[in-house]
Order: sequence, then structure tokens, then C-alpha cells
Amino acid sequence: MQNLDDIAKEVRTCKKCHLHKTRTNAVPGEGNSQAEIMFIGEAPGYHEDIQGRPFVGQAGKLLDNLLKGIGLERKNVFIGNIIKCRPPGNRDPQPEEINTCISYLLKQIEIIKPKVICTLGRFSFAEMMQRKVFISSEHGRPFKTGSENRLGEGLNIFPLYHPAAALHQPGLIDALEEDFKKLHAFLTSPPPENKVKENPLASVYKKTNETPQKKEKQLGLF
Ligand code: SF4
Repeated sequence: MQNLDDIAKEVRTCKKCHLHKTRTNAVPGEGNSQAEIMFIGEAPGYHEDIQGRPFVGQAGKLLDNLLKGIGLERKNVFIGNIIKCRPPGNRDPQPEEINTCISYLLKQIEIIKPKVICTLGRFSFAEMMQRKVFISSEHGRPFKTGSENRLGEGLNIFPLYHPAAALHQPGLIDALEEDFKKLHAFLTSPPPENKVKENPLASVYKKTNETPQKKEKQLGLF
């Protein structure tokens, strides 16, 4: 079975769709193969294309600070996109591009087996749920994928606003902060039927050696 590095190597040289002609670098995504959380945007942007890394630039810094607010760092999670090469002019990915590229994300999900996939932005949420979505009323709570979903049935999808959108609409930063608190609560409060199971983030928080309550105070930085 392939590992995340094998997939990254394949993505970096992939020419399966026409986006390889206009990219500077493919962006496979990066992070922990044992991650409890995957953050998935729609596609690399300008800075990501230049550096070959996901969520860099100002939006990436905001994401880093939001992670810090719930006691996590990039090394604890996985961050990537639905498609791995930048569409020209940052336009939305087209269906044939997604259909060609989605196998890489499927393999990444299969390897990581995350507790939750946080979609960043409306486009990613709609693609993961494979339905029309209403990000303004549906953000900040979990949804399950259905039996017909190509990502697999029963995955926890937790929609968030895209950090880049929050940079343009400062009101969304408050919503993102609140949603990260809800994400933290979702991951640290097992549903009633699973109360006996181990807290899914216990190992991650042990590594950071700080309590989530202590870290939450950093949300005031924004
Ligand atoms: S977008 Fe995906 S399928 Fe298309 S060239 Fe890039 S890695 Fe390959």
C-alpha cells in the first residue's frame, strides 16, 4: 500500500489533466499520517503554487493561529486540497479536473483515516458532501457522508469558512474562532454511545503538553 510520501511524489509529477501545463508546482498536501483532523480546501492558490505547499501566505497564517487556539500545530493535522494543481486565475476547479484528481485525496483519506474532515470554504464542503450546501447556515457543525458518497459512507465532515474569505470579510474571523471551539468540543466530547471510548485527541494533546483550555485563551489574538 502506498504511503503519503509515495502519493506526494506521484502528484508532483502528475500530468493526468491539463492543469499540469499551467502550474508552477503541484501541491500534494502535507501533515501527519496519524492525524485526527484533515483540513481540505478546494485548490492551491498563488502562494501555494509558488511554494508547492498548502495554505501558506496570510490565509495559512490565520489557519495556523486558529489551530494554536485549540492547542494544535500543523504537524498534528493534515492540510490539503481537493485538486492538487492551481487552476489559472484561481477559478473554481472544473468537474473533469476534480474527477481526474480526486483519487489522490481518496488515497490520502484511506491512509490517514481521520476522525473528521474539515472543509475550508463552500466549494470544498459541497464537493465532499456531493450536494448543494449553505455554508452560512451549515458551518460549524458535523455532517456524515451518505452511502452514495465516493469518499465513503459515514465520514464526519465539519464545514468551516475558508480562511482567505475571512481575510476579506473580517466578520468571518469571529465565526471561524467560534467554529474552531465547536470543532474542539466535537472532538473532545464523544457522543453518548461512545462515552467509554478514548478521547480521540488525547494523544495529540499529550504531545503538545498543554491543556486545550489553556490554549483557547490564545483565540483572543485575532
Ligand atoms: S490537478 Fe491533479 S490530476 Fe491534474 S495534473 Fe494536477 S495532480 Fe494531476
